Amino acid sequence: ATTTSTAASASRNSPHRPYTLERTRNIGIAAHIDAGKTTLTERILFYTGTIHKMGEVHEGTTVTDWMEQERERGITITSAATTCFWPVRKEEGISKLFGGEKFRINIIDTPGHVDFTAEVERSLRVLDGVIAVFCGVAGVQPQSETVWRQATRYSVPRIAFINKMDRVGANFENAVHEIRDKLGANAWPILLPLGKEDGFQGQIDIINRKAILYSDSDRLGSTYTVEEIPEEHREAAETARRNLIEALADKDEAMAEIFLAEQQPTIEQIKQAIRRSVIANEFVPVIAGSAFRNKGVQFLVDAVIDYLPSPVDIEAAHGQHPVSGEKVVVVPDDNAPFCSLAFKLWSDPFVGKLVFFRVYSGTLQKGMTVYNPRTRKRERISRIVQVQADERKDIQEVHSGDIAALVGIRDVATGDTLVAEDFDVILEPPIFPEPVISMA
Ligand code: GDP
Repeated sequence: ATTTSTAASASRNSPHRPYTLERTRNIGIAAHIDAGKTTLTERILFYTGTIHKMGEVHEGTTVTDWMEQERERGITITSAATTCFWPVRKEEGISKLFGGEKFRINIIDTPGHVDFTAEVERSLRVLDGVIAVFCGVAGVQPQSETVWRQATRYSVPRIAFINKMDRVGANFENAVHEIRDKLGANAWPILLPLGKEDGFQGQIDIINRKAILYSDSDRLGSTYTVEEIPEEHREAAETARRNLIEALADKDEAMAEIFLAEQQPTIEQIKQAIRRSVIANEFVPVIAGSAFRNKGVQFLVDAVIDYLPSPVDIEAAHGQHPVSGEKVVVVPDDNAPFCSLAFKLWSDPFVGKLVFFRVYSGTLQKGMTVYNPRTRKRERISRIVQVQADERKDIQEVHSGDIAALVGIRDVATGDTLVAEDFDVILEPPIFPEPVISMA
């Protein structure tokens, strides 16, 4: 289930798209209120935005400088979905599944309130993977339980982030146990905390056998080998690594073969096994960290790229012909007929009424006409925007697997399928519609 088949990718990717389908991630961040979802999302947006603009991370920038810059830019999550970009750096000694490439990550807002269950289900329909954020002190709380069960119902692959490891009372092991016991997840740590509470000083990457020590003056921190860290941490890391490999062998055939032959899997083999098991919804990697620590946020985004699926890694969407009832499979391919789902109507302070949509197949260009099989009406698309944190960018076209917003479209309801004029299909399963709101 890996994504790097160039032959296939050349045919389904339009030459005009800046990021291929395989380098696209549509993710949600789900959490119980107060677990740190907002802080974490802002950090991801700031960090990816900064890297996108500067081209690279500037080492030596102090945390204070960074907080200052962030305050000036005033980044907040003010949108139903936002796009950011992530270059996968080739850091020395840290093996990556995907090296030296840029990725497009669309973050879809996943409401954390129980009363918005229908809304949560709608957002789960358009994303391909979730970061489930838990508070390191409180562990699994009721709202995270609700969202988790919904994600299970829609078979959405997940990675877990245990936040606030710096807070008094933080307990990583307890949080992992709760994810297993309360949520029934096959959850295994891939990044351990190095210390906790006041003594939380970094993370141990048990796959790469590296420890990353944070420091106040260097946003990238310093990296040590596992052999260089205190014995108690070293033992915990090596035990966790053995447990991780054994747990993967239990789910993944390739890893089982390596394990039974008593061989040591390579870093790449471990990561591929995690990727396959996460996408198959049989495994949840757990990361310890803090939204207050930059390095931890970097590792989290790397894990999104490495382990969460691209639009071509998941089962294709399907729909029904509204009259004949015939089943239609909607494959992610830029050359296929256009098919999309309007998942959120949004009143934006910058551009007014927006209709957020996810493209399942085909390409939509400005000036094209779309057909709404529910209303049986056609509408011309006069403006498409891409929301990027605090910017709204006009774009000429949007491709399969991507998320963007329409401006100026009139008669559309949340949950409507919008398609090419000659492609009559309604996406399934039908999702809870909201009352029709005129967008005029
Ligand atoms: P949300 O409700 O899940 O969006 O949570 P917020 O991002 O608003 O965070 C709730 C509170 O926890 C805020 O006061 C944050 O500053 C704080 N917080 C978030 N992440 C961390 C963390 O890693 N460590 C500590 N100590 N506090 C955090």
